[in-house]
Amino acid sequence: RNGLRRESFVLCVDVGTTTIRCHVFDKEAKIRGSCSSKVVLLYPEPGLVELDPEELWTGFIKVVKGAVQDAGVQMCQIESLGISTQRGTFTTWDRTTGRPFHNFISYQDLRAAKSVCSWNSSYTMMAVQGALKLLYLISKQKRFLAASLVVFSTQHVTFRLLWALTHYKEVCDLLLLSQAVAEGTCCFGTIDTWLLYKLTKGEVHATDYSNASATGMFDTYQMGWSGILCSAVSLPLSILPKVEDTSYGFGSTDPSIFGVSIPITALMADQQAAMFGECCFDVGDVKITMGTGTFINIHTGSKPHTSIAGLYPLVGWKIGEEVVFLAEGNAADTGTAIKWAQGLGLFSDVKETSAMAYSVAHSDGVCFVPSFSGLQAPLNDPQACASFMGLKPSTNKSHLVRAILESVAFRIRQLYQTMLNETNIPITKIRVDGGVCSNDFVVQLTTDLIGRKIARPTHHEMSCRGAAFVAGLGVGFWKNQEELKRLHTTDEMFLPRQAAQTSTELGVVSGEYVPVLQSWEKALRRSMEWYN
Ligand code: ADP
Repeated sequence: RNGLRRESFVLCVDVGTTTIRCHVFDKEAKIRGSCSSKVVLLYPEPGLVELDPEELWTGFIKVVKGAVQDAGVQMCQIESLGISTQRGTFTTWDRTTGRPFHNFISYQDLRAAKSVCSWNSSYTMMAVQGALKLLYLISKQKRFLAASLVVFSTQHVTFRLLWALTHYKEVCDLLLLSQAVAEGTCCFGTIDTWLLYKLTKGEVHATDYSNASATGMFDTYQMGWSGILCSAVSLPLSILPKVEDTSYGFGSTDPSIFGVSIPITALMADQQAAMFGECCFDVGDVKITMGTGTFINIHTGSKPHTSIAGLYPLVGWKIGEEVVFLAEGNAADTGTAIKWAQGLGLFSDVKETSAMAYSVAHSDGVCFVPSFSGLQAPLNDPQACASFMGLKPSTNKSHLVRAILESVAFRIRQLYQTMLNETNIPITKIRVDGGVCSNDFVVQLTTDLIGRKIARPTHHEMSCRGAAFVAGLGVGFWKNQEELKRLHTTDEMFLPRQAAQTSTELGVVSGEYVPVLQSWEKALRRSMEWYN
């Protein structure tokens, strides 16, 4: 009435492994209000990790309302909503009633570990891989080569979904009625799809390319669900959601939920969202997220990357005609190892750990293998055990903490080296985010071991920022990527002791760390032999 337009905002929720966070962003990408809630993980049996879908939904609503209240604004001022989610965590539900058939099965869940291992080493797998290689030789289509190199992992949805479809009675009964499946009574969805379904009161069953590409059931070359892989393991394609662009009008929140209808304009997988939030828009840009796990991603341009060592090809985002691909390496146990050490009483606050590690000159010859959920690329051993090796009567808590933090940097070095060898793309910049990147010891050691400068932004929650950026671009809140780059946060730079010679090489490890790295690699091999 006074002629002034009310300020508008973009809202973004990030469902992480440990927390659901919501931030209200203004035009300057400044956070004007926030709210977070713990993700409650259920451990029904050793190795099983689940989440209650209804509890997650309640948590989602709570953080949205809380953040808007914290910002002192009104729901009607929210121009769009973006959602970033942990990947590979899924449930199935009844399309008509919306009732979940079971809890979410987390990406950390190991119920399918045995099937994954036996499938990866099975004659069927060898036969399928052989046939795909032959197809590649005949057709020269890279997608066949890529599919022939796929190694299944427990973090991917495939075998856990297969488990769910064959173990939960209600789902089994339903799937036996093949007609019902054809009619699509059973819906599969990762967290983004479930939230979208709930927010639109069952109107929309969809996901985006970044989330779909992280399930292990998606063909990044064809940009669609992989018929080859799904039929190889007998997964029905009819239960999978429609895959849309990352920036897309997915629908609007039902007015009964927040009092107004808010357009949902971005769904994005958390690592890809972090990459976007870090403004890694150019080929060769790298981001390293150190959260519950470590995820290192490189922008590989407009084509998916075919990996032999187990780097995973992902769709970064699809916005209009632009499709960006990433290659990803990960180490599952980063924050989990630190939390475990805290639970053990090695320290009371994670903030103490950097100083503890610096308080000793070395780890007293102790090596830690961060493998509560196996070792991923380039080792690819889901059965490797976690271990401390080289303990001595002189070993104290600081040595143990230093060994754990060193193992985080060592795994990053290993993944970075694999990435350099396989992609051969000159690295343009490296940025870090995630909870563990507040640890100076870890970031400095990583910098020294890879021989490249690393930028640490002041704001570490990049997944939320990235999905907010995409949501905002979709409604014209921000104009383009150039504008987003200008909104960039201030960085803290970490410089290596000795820089790498070129942008495609690893730095030279300083003398004192050569034997430490060698012992650690020996410890890795021992851990891999443990269950054999
Ligand atoms: P996610 O998004 O996967 O839930 P976060 O990025 O929030 O995880 O990171 C959380 C992890 O970061 C926790 O495991 C926590 O112990 C760890 N963490 C936070 N601050 C520090 C620190 N200063 N040093 C080491 N670890 C830290």
